[in-house]
Amino acid sequence: MPVTNKKNIKKSNTIKLKFDTGWSYAPAPESKSSASFNKQYDLFINGEWVNPLSHKYFDTINPANEEKLAEVAEANAADVDRAVKAARNAYEKVWKKMPAKERAKYIFRIARMIQERAREFAIIESMDGGKPIRESRDFDIPTAANHFFYYAGWADKLEYAFPNRNSNSLGVAGQIIPWNFPMLMAAWKIAPALATGNTVVLKPAETTPLTAMKLAEVIRESGLPEGVVNIVSGGGATGAAIVNHPDINKIAFTGSTEVGKLIQRAVAGTNKKVTLELGGKAANIIFEDAPIDQAVEGVINGVYFNQGHVCCAGSRLYVQESVAKELIRKLRDRIETLIVGDPLDKNTDIGAINSRQQLDTIHKYLKIGKDEGYQMYESSCSLPAKGYWCRPTIFTDVAQSARIAQEEIFGPVLAILTFRTDDEVIQKANNTPYGLSAGVWTDKGSKIFNMTKRMRAGVIWANTFNKFDPTSPFGGYKESGYGREGGLHGLLPYVNLSN
Ligand code: NAP
Ligand code: MG
Repeated sequence: MPVTNKKNIKKSNTIKLKFDTGWSYAPAPESKSSASFNKQYDLFINGEWVNPLSHKYFDTINPANEEKLAEVAEANAADVDRAVKAARNAYEKVWKKMPAKERAKYIFRIARMIQERAREFAIIESMDGGKPIRESRDFDIPTAANHFFYYAGWADKLEYAFPNRNSNSLGVAGQIIPWNFPMLMAAWKIAPALATGNTVVLKPAETTPLTAMKLAEVIRESGLPEGVVNIVSGGGATGAAIVNHPDINKIAFTGSTEVGKLIQRAVAGTNKKVTLELGGKAANIIFEDAPIDQAVEGVINGVYFNQGHVCCAGSRLYVQESVAKELIRKLRDRIETLIVGDPLDKNTDIGAINSRQQLDTIHKYLKIGKDEGYQMYESSCSLPAKGYWCRPTIFTDVAQSARIAQEEIFGPVLAILTFRTDDEVIQKANNTPYGLSAGVWTDKGSKIFNMTKRMRAGVIWANTFNKFDPTSPFGGYKESGYGREGGLHGLLPYVNLSN
């Protein structure tokens, strides 16, 4: 990229980077015309759209312009009860008795229908949640479809997944998902549950319910027997009603560690099975022998992907001292070229922050980082007047004990720390309450194996970052939760095994 006229404007410990590239991309907005959604959505229970007994609806907005997109029903405990009854009925009367290869056909059909409507799903995902269309189009929606394809394949092969064991479905699964990958999280949860013969009550996040509503339409059109999947929108109280419902056999939750702890307390003493996918503070480690330019791209992808709204974001960067100067310079140059703006523009690298509340959280951490005295660099890009936005930001010379190095920010903010030896960096990398993911960049294969063996993280990428595949399990250590989703491992939380 032709970069000229580099100028840094220094103000206290904040440096605004400034490049004049001399040119910019022409806008390339995705047309909204191929995406349609209703002004109002009810609850999807027993294969039908039903009015909420709560009589309440809430708005979902587009975080890029703060405009209302639709209003969505807010399920109360009585609505959740209705959904659980529908799921139980479908489980006992239809789904658990259906031959596995027949179940597989429905799951395949859902996968194909998502593919057919991929563009529509991608546009709605970007409008409702703020993520760049490039990501929703090329990552979220295709990967969601792939999860349905993958688990459809397992449905009639469980005897090979669990050799010499009998696997039995559990019953009704209550599933609660967050706002950062709304459609993908729904697929992660629903696909393995159906493949193993369970029925579902799913709650999408309050700020991103629309693709779940579209998924309900697909499920209805697929002819999936009524009540096998029920989708109830609502807030935290709706989630709590699912967790506390006595006729639910399994809870699958993805979200914050704070709510994960509440859930764990709520199910203690019951026989509900639980999987928790919670927060993270991934260490991304760059050794001096790493291919530096490739590592810079990996770091950018690791922390700025999806505005940093990624539980496994590489938000803690450890750089070996001898290459720190060069790497930081390259990273600063690179964040200046990132395009922040309209999520529906195909050039956009960083879209809108998902909600006002999340933006406030990120601002709080930027202030903490500055107040603690760390050097902050932010891109000089201009931000749209309306909507929720945050410039890509870097903190350097960060101490291991700094709050911005220990706590999850969930925004486009990178904390950079340095190290000298392998032992030192292992100790530092493992020194957080979390353990979801990590990255290692080095030219040496033996070093990769040595590091990955000693790091306490569920997923470790080597010379790459944020790669996902339905065949590969995902999940955490320590306060990042327990249980695995994806791959063969993702079947296990949905079955009871016997001899
Ligand atoms: P959150 O507040 O924990 O919300 C997650 C889901 O739980 C939402 O649907 C939420 O509803 C619901 N909820 C809120 N309070 C509840 C309660 N008391 N009982 C039951 N459900 C409740 O998390 P978030 O802020 O939406 O998401 C960001 C967090 O998720 C981050 O910490 C991130 O690391 C984590 N995350 C982890 C993974 C992973 O795989 N490990 C993946 C993605 C995100 P509302 O939408 O109405 O609040
Ligand atoms: Mg929204």
